[in-house]
Amino acid sequence: MSETAVTGRVHSLQSLGTLDGPGVRFVVFMQGCPLRCGCCHNPDTWSPSAGTVYTPREIADKVVRYREYFKEDGGITISGGEPLLQPDFVREVFSLCHAEGINTCLDTSGCILSAASKAVLDVTDRVLLDIKYTTDALYRENVGCGIETPLAFLDYLSEKRIPVTLRQVIIPTHNDNAENILALREIAKQHPNVDKIELLPFRKICQVKYDKLSIPFRFGHLPEPTRESMLALENLLHENT
Ligand code: SF4
Repeated sequence: MSETAVTGRVHSLQSLGTLDGPGVRFVVFMQGCPLRCGCCHNPDTWSPSAGTVYTPREIADKVVRYREYFKEDGGITISGGEPLLQPDFVREVFSLCHAEGINTCLDTSGCILSAASKAVLDVTDRVLLDIKYTTDALYRENVGCGIETPLAFLDYLSEKRIPVTLRQVIIPTHNDNAENILALREIAKQHPNVDKIELLPFRKICQVKYDKLSIPFRFGHLPEPTRESMLALENLLHENT
């Protein structure tokens, strides 16, 4: 492929990640996010003008150096912030990785379904889609968009038959209940390309980041979920499946 002059603003790089997609992965955290989730763990990624500027080739060259660790399942994951705020850059990194036979995974909130986003999805092997809540009211109150936006994104991924891992942060008093888990199961059932659901516990270790940025942590007053409550929700998620 011909390379362009596009560059991207990158928050940080993780060379051997095991939490963001299958296998061992090189994870690129992009700078900038249009949403303001109350549970956000990375408020330092919000500003679109911060971060370090890279060319797609610079990132791809770094990824290739780790390929022996990827084995069959691993590869590159581009996360954020919201990676689809910089779609041309992400598409080019993924294309360069594909040219090297490296698997590509996109971690997104599904809030931007533009023509440029669709071009990224053309070179994406798996999407980690963060479904923050299963009701529109909670989405509007705590995320910054309506639920129809990520659901339309998921519909598009189904149409294109792109494998999806649904992810949800479990936040006590918000979505740590059976109704939410059953609704999440239902969303997965309606989209056969969803082959995995991951529940992630809400964590407050990010409080220090908020303090440093002098931004209030909206969910700072909420407790973290207990191990037992996470297990119970996991069991309900996988019951009779
Ligand atoms: S989409 Fe992700 S990065 Fe953006 S505000 Fe929500 S949790 Fe934070």
